[in-house]
Amino acid sequence: MARVFCIANQKGGVGKTTTTVNLAAGLARVGQRVLVVDLDPQGNATMGSGIDKRALELSVYDVLLESATIAEARQRNDKVGYDVVGANRELAGAEVELVDLERRDRRLKGAIATANDQYDFVLIDCPPSLSMLTLNGLCSAHGVIVPMQCEYFALEGLSDLVNTIKQVHANLNPDLKIIGLLRVMFDPRITLQQQVSEQLKTHFGNKVFDTVIPRNVRLAEAPSYGLPGVIFDPSSKGAQAFVAFAQEMVGRIDLM
Ligand code: ADP
Ligand code: MG
Repeated sequence: MARVFCIANQKGGVGKTTTTVNLAAGLARVGQRVLVVDLDPQGNATMGSGIDKRALELSVYDVLLESATIAEARQRNDKVGYDVVGANRELAGAEVELVDLERRDRRLKGAIATANDQYDFVLIDCPPSLSMLTLNGLCSAHGVIVPMQCEYFALEGLSDLVNTIKQVHANLNPDLKIIGLLRVMFDPRITLQQQVSEQLKTHFGNKVFDTVIPRNVRLAEAPSYGLPGVIFDPSSKGAQAFVAFAQEMVGRIDLM
C-alpha cells in the first residue's frame, strides 16, 4: 500500500514544488514506485516533470470531478522515473464546482485508493492556500511534509498550517499528522537562518528532518529543462541533498 504525503505550506515560493518533484525523483532513484499528483492550478510540478500542462487531455481536474481515474489521467516522462497526474489552469474552476458536490473533500482520496497498490509513495503538491484543493490533499494523506525557509516569519505562518492539520485530523482524517518540517533554501552563512533552524528544533524536536536542502542554483534552473534537479544535475549539492532526503524518508517509513 502506498504511503500518501502532502507537500504543503500556505505560503507561496517556499519550495513545495521543488520538494515534490525532487523527492519523487530521489525516491524513484532508490527504487521506489512514485506517483506525483499536482494539485496546484499553476501546474509547476507538471511542467517541472517534463509534461506540458497545456497539452493535458486529462488532468487532476477530471479526477476530482470523477470523470477520469488516476490510471486514465496519469502520464509518465521516462526521463524522470515517476508518474504524474498533471494540473493546469482548468483546476482553478474545480474549487467552485466542488462546492455543491457530495464528498467534495474526499474526491482525491477515493481516486488514490484505486491506484494504491501500484505505488510505494504518492506525493501531492499543494497550492499556496488552505483551500478546497488543499483540503482534498489533506484528506487523502497519511501525513504532511512542510518545506520551509528559515526566515523570521516562518514560525508565525506555521501555526495556521498546524491548526488546519489539527482540525482535519480531528474532523475529517484521523490518519493525518505532520511527518516533518524540511529546511529548504538553507544558507548556513546567514546567522538568522541558523537561529531559526535552532528554534525549529527546539519547538518541533524530531519532527524536523535531519536532511537540510541548501540554496542551490541548479535546483532553480532545472524546471526550465522540464526536469527535477535530481535528474538535471545529479552531482549538484541540491540534488545530493534531495537524494539524501529520499533515503531519510524511506528509512523513517516504518516509524510513520
Ligand atoms: P512553491 O511551490 O512553494 O511556490 P517552488 O518550489 O516553486 O515554491 O520554489 C520557489 C522558487 O524558488 C522557484 O523559482 C524555485 O526554483 C526556487 N527554489 C526552490 N528551492 C530552491 C533551492 N533549494 N535553491 C535555490 N532555489 C530554489
Ligand atoms: Mg508550487
